[in-house]
Amino acid sequence: MTIQIIIKKAIKRLELEGKLLTPDYYAEAFCKEAKIAKMNVEDCFNIKKLTTSLNPEFKKELNQYCIKTMSELIRFLISRLNRTNPSFCSRNLESQVLFTKRILQVVEVLHNKEAADLAKLSFKMLCENPSTVIVDQFRQHWINFITKYDDSFLESIGLIDKNNLTKSIQNLELSSLSKTDDTNFNKVASLLVSSFVPSIASNIDDKIIDISQKINNNPNFLLGSNIEEKIKKVIRLRIALDKKSVKEMIESLDGVLDKLSIRLIEMIESSDNSTVEIQRIKKELELYNTENESNKISFKLTHKKLYTIAVALEENTKSLSNDLKDHSDEVSILSKKIAKLESELKSAREESKEDFLTKLYNKRALDEFMKVKEAEYERYNRNYSIVMLDIDHFKSVNDTYGHDAGDAVLAAFAKILKREARSVDIVGRFGGEEFMVILSETDVDGGVIFAQKVRKKVQKAKFMYKKKRIEITLSAGVSERKKNSSLDNVMKSADDNLYKAKKSGRNQVAK
Ligand code: GH3
Ligand code: MG
Ligand code: MG
Repeated sequence: MTIQIIIKKAIKRLELEGKLLTPDYYAEAFCKEAKIAKMNVEDCFNIKKLTTSLNPEFKKELNQYCIKTMSELIRFLISRLNRTNPSFCSRNLESQVLFTKRILQVVEVLHNKEAADLAKLSFKMLCENPSTVIVDQFRQHWINFITKYDDSFLESIGLIDKNNLTKSIQNLELSSLSKTDDTNFNKVASLLVSSFVPSIASNIDDKIIDISQKINNNPNFLLGSNIEEKIKKVIRLRIALDKKSVKEMIESLDGVLDKLSIRLIEMIESSDNSTVEIQRIKKELELYNTENESNKISFKLTHKKLYTIAVALEENTKSLSNDLKDHSDEVSILSKKIAKLESELKSAREESKEDFLTKLYNKRALDEFMKVKEAEYERYNRNYSIVMLDIDHFKSVNDTYGHDAGDAVLAAFAKILKREARSVDIVGRFGGEEFMVILSETDVDGGVIFAQKVRKKVQKAKFMYKKKRIEITLSAGVSERKKNSSLDNVMKSADDNLYKAKKSGRNQVAK
């Protein structure tokens, strides 16, 4: 067999095995055909011959790389030779590791969690001077990642151009994003609208109502231009409304507080127990009042005021209640005393026999004397006369000169009456301007004489009141016991006679 036939067969073999006509493949196929043709071709056996002298480590490596041709062997040896240059080798390795680390750091910041995590771990691994086994494991991890990587989700959100994600996302329309989750967007819009409503103020601003309605009617209004500025404005309005409300509330509270503190100051001032502590509180309250005048309204100040007032009130009411307790004891003692005095006064009055105005006997005393006179009459047959005297037209004295003048006349009249009577005669005021005299051992004529005497004296008397002369006359009725069947009858008879005197023209005595 010629060398040409072996060459042809080698090319045929390559065709059958579907291999390209590269020098390496060709050399391999040629040697196989030469062997079949039992042609001893130097080149085909050189490798085996040469490799037998290599140490086992290199032999294993040659097997691993499937080195079959001379050129492969030469390339392998060159690379080994290069690698045996220690400085070149380590420099090369160092820069490759550094380069890999940078790539890993870049991957770490890219937006893929899996890749970033793996990059982070790989970076750490490279820093720890790994064995080739560990490096191989990580290489496998990266192969797994790239095999499984799927970016089809980008299409689902409308990202068509995956080569420039930033640009693609910038081109995406916000409205289309909102459309993907309408209900959530609407919820956020209505939440925003409800946050516009003032939480303290009871009223709401027209501008707030306007923007609220716009958002409610169409939540996409939030995607419009300048929306951020508009919302900020509404928020400022809402805060202003609430602030105003709070200010008003504090102002009204402060007004009440001021009134309260003024009242408290008055109370403290009028209190007997103005201790040093109360004086201090008073001064503090006065201070707050002046502060208030300069319109310094704040929660803190109001709180402080309330607290001070509460403390002052507590102190004051304590001393007040102590006072009240002491006073109530005194009051109960006094009221007992008064009750005792009243009952004493009552019995004194009952016992009194003197008329308060004229100092003559009163009606009670006259009644008692009459009983005595009646008893004397019955036992000793001692006669007595009764004279009833009544001032004429006394009502007009009161009407003309006043009641005080009337009283003065009555007192003066009583003196005349007392003076004209004997010491044994009983002179008393029967009631109003009516007087009664009991004349012991006297008959009716004697009574008339007495009555006439008095009548004349009174007529002549000058009753003066505030330099004015008041003219007075009297009428009298007289009766004696002996000519009547009982005490009552003699009384009645004297009264009838008085009536008679009046009827007959007054200023006279009738019997
Ligand atoms: P008459 O001639 O008919 O007696 O007329 P009069 O006005 O005296 O009689 P009348 O009974 O109408 O009025 C009596 C008056 O006497 C009315 C009453 O106000 C007055 N009087 C009675 N008691 C007192 C008193 O204590 N002080 C004074 N100032 N007036 C009295
Ligand atoms: Mg009269
Ligand atoms: Mg009268």
